[in-house]
Amino acid sequence: GPGTDTLLQTSGLTKRFGGFTAIDNVDFSVDEGQLRCLIGPNGAGKSTLLKLITGRHDATSGAIYYDGEDIADLRPNDRVDLGIGMKFQVPSVFDELTAYENMRLSVQRTHGDDNLDEAILDGLKRIDLAERATTPAGELSHGQQGRLEIGMAAALEPDLLLLDEPVAGLSLEERREVADLVTELNGDGIAFIVIEHDIDFVAEIADEVTVLHGGQVFREGSIEDIRADDEVRRIYLGG
Ligand code: ADP
Ligand code: MG
Repeated sequence: GPGTDTLLQTSGLTKRFGGFTAIDNVDFSVDEGQLRCLIGPNGAGKSTLLKLITGRHDATSGAIYYDGEDIADLRPNDRVDLGIGMKFQVPSVFDELTAYENMRLSVQRTHGDDNLDEAILDGLKRIDLAERATTPAGELSHGQQGRLEIGMAAALEPDLLLLDEPVAGLSLEERREVADLVTELNGDGIAFIVIEHDIDFVAEIADEVTVLHGGQVFREGSIEDIRADDEVRRIYLGG
């Protein structure tokens, strides 16, 4: 069972799409304040695992414990209220709303109407976008949009934040900015599960790495262990 520091724990988690098993009997856990990266070849089941944790997909079988409570039957919004935040693979800012208006949508949810303006500006400062407050999100750079999404998720004050490929398509400099932001939020106590292909980015941010392969946990360990593992290298080469 979950230990005292365990924030999230899946037990025998399984997801089938028709006859295809995308997540196969997975025991996976994240400790409070931990930053765990989830890697693995395309189709390994990484996005599906995160969608099971957020409730976007229902599990076929198995349990998901969060703070010791089985949340597998809770609706997505109830999981957000418990403290599970998510930035999806597909961008989810509202292009026609300004950075400020986007941030307001999140801040309002936790903050009510008191000192709303201050809280929104604080949220924008945190992601270095205060200067772009009146810019429609659709006109921000990809890096700025990515930071806005992470900032909006963080404004919901999660204890656990799930990021699905947060730096895909970003420049080296934009990656650095996202790495700094994630590290800063993690320093504030937010635990993370981050799906990422860029192993240098993973090395920069991860406390621990889980390798998923064929819907199963293939390896877990430090980035050094994972990098040195010939079997891990082999699955990426399609062996
Ligand atoms: P990853 O994120 O690791 O690339 P996914 O979790 O997106 O992998 O997908 C894992 C497997 O499950 C893939 O083979 C994919 O085709 C399949 N899959 C994902 N979502 C669905 C779905 N909604 N319906 C059917 N198959 C799906
Ligand atoms: Mg994916």
